[in-house]
Amino acid sequence: MIKDGWFAEVSDTMWPGQAMSLRVDRILNAEKTKYQDLLVFKSTDYGNVLVLDGAIQATERDEFAYQEMITHLAMNSHPNPRKVLVIGGGDGGVLREVVKHDSVEEAVLCDIDEGVIANAKKYLPEMSKSFSHPKVKVHIGDGFKFLDEFKNTFDVIITDSSDPEGPAASLFQKPYFQLLHDALTEDGVITTQAESMWIHLDIIKELKSACKDVFTNVEYAYTTIPTYPTGQIGFMVCSKNSKVDLKKPLRSVSETEEEKLYKYYSKDIHSAAFVLPNFAKYALQ
Ligand code: SAM
Repeated sequence: MIKDGWFAEVSDTMWPGQAMSLRVDRILNAEKTKYQDLLVFKSTDYGNVLVLDGAIQATERDEFAYQEMITHLAMNSHPNPRKVLVIGGGDGGVLREVVKHDSVEEAVLCDIDEGVIANAKKYLPEMSKSFSHPKVKVHIGDGFKFLDEFKNTFDVIITDSSDPEGPAASLFQKPYFQLLHDALTEDGVITTQAESMWIHLDIIKELKSACKDVFTNVEYAYTTIPTYPTGQIGFMVCSKNSKVDLKKPLRSVSETEEEKLYKYYSKDIHSAAFVLPNFAKYALQ
């Protein structure tokens, strides 16, 4: 993966014929965890970088564009999120965003791989700082199995998973969306990592249809982020409440407060994130 001082993100199945590259300053850790190949390196221009099974998960420079959007699109589509569950998200970035909401009483994270959490605590301090927050509880285990234990419990569930190859495969299929639905309270909302419209329209179509089988209110939104393949990544946003307009935040703060809290998210970006270019809009209709 690293040649002549450059890391190249190659995948012949997920993003054939292209490879995002970052210049490596030095390797901080490389190990095989119980579930995946894990690499952390210091890049020359994007800070520390976490890579799982060859795929970039987060860089210190642009992670906020993903973490803020996957979190606040869901949190601000719920009237009063008190109990929140994060599936995956072992780098801690989504948790950091969840606890920015004062309404939250408990934020539970379930990641399959404690190796990711340990490395995040060591090498990604800004992302992982909320693991020590008093409202946070961590469970190590498979998200699919964990969810099965809860009915009518969480107001918001955010699935911050890796790609649908390897341990996250089950998190992209209809039975998982049924479990999410059943674990939610009445007005419950979910977001889930839903790949790039430039290269994964077929996966997104399938995801949307799986979500629609289970939720009445389903939309696709996206964020821009330099270090994910194609510079974009999307989210399925679903609510149990069919009357909620997911494209408009139910709750928001003043612009001054937004500037303090967020580097990417705002109420304007919230709505803009659902506006798709025609090729994706019509494919997903
Ligand atoms: N934002 C990233 C992306 O899209 O590239 C994802 C980052 S996050 C670190 C992905 C996490 O999902 C990893 O920590 C991985 O261990 C976790 N994960 C994968 N499969 C899982 C499963 N079945 N249950 C719970 N966590 C899982």
